[in-house]
Amino acid sequence: MEGIEIRDPRFKTLVLANASLEQLASGFRWIEGPVWMGDADCLLFQDLPRNATMRWSETHGVSVYRSPSNYANGQTRDRQGRLIACSHRSRCLYRTEYDGRVTTLVDRHAGKRLNAPNDVIVKSDGSIWFTDPVYGISTDYEGGRQESEQRPAVYRFDPGSGEIAIAADDFDGPNGLAFSPDEHRLYVAETGDQTDDHPRQYIRVFDVASNGRTLSGGKLFHKIDPGYCDGMRVDQHGNVWSSAADGVHCLDRDGKLLGKVRVPHRVSNLTFGGPAKNRLFIAGSGTLYSIFLNCRGAQTP
Ligand code: MG
Repeated sequence: MEGIEIRDPRFKTLVLANASLEQLASGFRWIEGPVWMGDADCLLFQDLPRNATMRWSETHGVSVYRSPSNYANGQTRDRQGRLIACSHRSRCLYRTEYDGRVTTLVDRHAGKRLNAPNDVIVKSDGSIWFTDPVYGISTDYEGGRQESEQRPAVYRFDPGSGEIAIAADDFDGPNGLAFSPDEHRLYVAETGDQTDDHPRQYIRVFDVASNGRTLSGGKLFHKIDPGYCDGMRVDQHGNVWSSAADGVHCLDRDGKLLGKVRVPHRVSNLTFGGPAKNRLFIAGSGTLYSIFLNCRGAQTP
């Protein structure tokens, strides 16, 4: 089990003895936002400072999917399979339609511009949940320096009605987010003000109300060390797989560290993919990796 670090015996059941970390492609500046496109048998991800959405497939290797991407970051697919991306430069969420047109879904809250949407997920009811820290407008590297008009927040957006509502705003820097398989919980990373020397390293856990729209709680779930949680995904059993400086950390429902997939570079984001959703794709700084696991990514209800 090269590169696998077991901290709890339960982790042995989640990994494979004869599968190790594979390097798929390298030479990028800083990659983010991997999303599996099963119908096209490929992975899409961002080379964020290069302002490009990239494509990787087992048979065709790496190619450019979209450039410019408007400095896109987190990506997901909605319940109809359409690609949804967070744009730093345009300070919006945009959706790629079936015919290839791009539609801006939301770029304002309460009449003011969003900051720089960072990561996004879709709930089974079709609502779109995203984080809006200031990272993407605080430097010229990942989208361009612009003035913030909003405090950082987690939003719920209804693409049917166009309604946008703050789900939580007691954050300095909300980042990656994921629902538990039953959608009773929402995990949100707090990575704080990254201009200081001690970025926050917390994953917080919220209870989702029975109306499916509002949150309560928000207590500390886990403190990532070393590094911080930029992005995370949940597996079929409800374990949380988080990015960290030394790889991917797997946490159980109580926030206990079960084990790690060691990666030679700092990890930003990850996602499950492949026909069985048992392959973890890992964005490791400028290098794309994957590893096959003995578990699958969560299916939403
Ligand atoms: Mg992020």
